[in-house]
Amino acid sequence: MNGRPAVLLDRDGTLTEPRHYPSSPAELVLQPGIGAPLRGLRELGVALVVVTNQSGLARGLFTPQDLDAMHRHLRSRLRALGVRLDGIYHCPHHPDGTVPELAVRCRCRKPGPGLLLRAAEDLHLDLARSWMVGDFASDVGAGRRAGCRTALVGPAPDSPAPDLRAPTTARALELIAGAFGGTP
Ligand SMILES: [Mg+2]
Ligand SMILES: [Zn+2]
Repeated sequence: MNGRPAVLLDRDGTLTEPRHYPSSPAELVLQPGIGAPLRGLRELGVALVVVTNQSGLARGLFTPQDLDAMHRHLRSRLRALGVRLDGIYHCPHHPDGTVPELAVRCRCRKPGPGLLLRAAEDLHLDLARSWMVGDFASDVGAGRRAGCRTALVGPAPDSPAPDLRAPTTARALELIAGAFGGTP
């Protein structure tokens, strides 16, 4: 495949600080220190895509309109740092959900690779040259199944083993930019 490389980012706990089922824009607070490495990656021609499980939709904890408002906020906070996202892809499903049409087993809930594959098709990404960055084993699993390299941030157990571990998202992004040939 000769698409663009991407960094696919988990949202909660990776791009933003961890919260339990955030449901309003104010709860999405960007992790510190990520503006410079994200700008650096864009300058290297790397696409930036968010891939996020949002089972709160299936559980009826918030609505698609709430999620849209949260993602407009997220884009605007990033824009303030000079960072444009190429896309945000979410899985609204959960088998134990209370919203009938979303209470299904799907292929897009991480560790399934569905969100990454959909992003790759829409945005012409080369997944073999891309990285999945997340704070859960399910992020590493999704990245591996999609054929990406994987980075795990924070203290989660490293099974399945990621290609890279870092204490913070900012550090992971710096190391990935270095792997793409930028200054770490
Ligand atoms: Mg997370
Ligand atoms: Zn899904």
